[in-house]
Amino acid sequence: MLLEVRAVAPFYKNGFVVGCERTREAVLIDPGDEVDELLGAVRDLDVEVQRVLLTHAHLDHITGVARAKETFDIPVHLHRDDLFLYEAVVQQGELFGFKVRPQPPIDVFYDGSPIQFGDYEVTVHHTPGHCPGGVCLQIGKTGEPATHLFVGDTLFASSIGRTDLPGGDYSLLMRSITQVLFPLGDQCIVHPGHGPDTTIGRERTTNPFVLQYLDS
Ligand SMILES: [Zn+2]
Ligand SMILES: [Zn+2]
Repeated sequence: MLLEVRAVAPFYKNGFVVGCERTREAVLIDPGDEVDELLGAVRDLDVEVQRVLLTHAHLDHITGVARAKETFDIPVHLHRDDLFLYEAVVQQGELFGFKVRPQPPIDVFYDGSPIQFGDYEVTVHHTPGHCPGGVCLQIGKTGEPATHLFVGDTLFASSIGRTDLPGGDYSLLMRSITQVLFPLGDQCIVHPGHGPDTTIGRERTTNPFVLQYLDS
């Protein structure tokens, strides 16, 4: 699997290019302010981007969608329950003091069916709590156990997503982490929306927020 990650100020939100090494087909995950860096990675990898896949619709994860769409003219995927956030991107920007351009319409709502690129397959798991339409994108070779999880802001290395923004729900978040993500297996590599990679096993056994929740 080809994988490149980029992040820039002010949010240091991770944007990803994930591609098939055989067919050079690829997807973009959460293009934000680092979209130009992602486009550079696409050129360097020499891949053909086929879709934009969004983990959720908070400002920092979507500000590069318009640029990606203008460059590649490809469909943009989101969970329906985050459409209200996506359509309010300009107002989200105002809350943080940023002037943000409106983003193009969503083309596809996740419906539970897998998404293919090259020899790879994306399984979409609904993981609400940080926001209503948060998803985990589980990626691996078609027919093999998929061990890469792109979790957005649901789970971080030694931390969890905030639940104080509109639509956030702490008990729903903890249920998504412990009942949707953990069963995917300790060996799974977690690529969070901010900060370094981790694994399900590491977070299941050492994440202080998880331990506190499981203890209560
Ligand atoms: Zn978020
Ligand atoms: Zn974020």
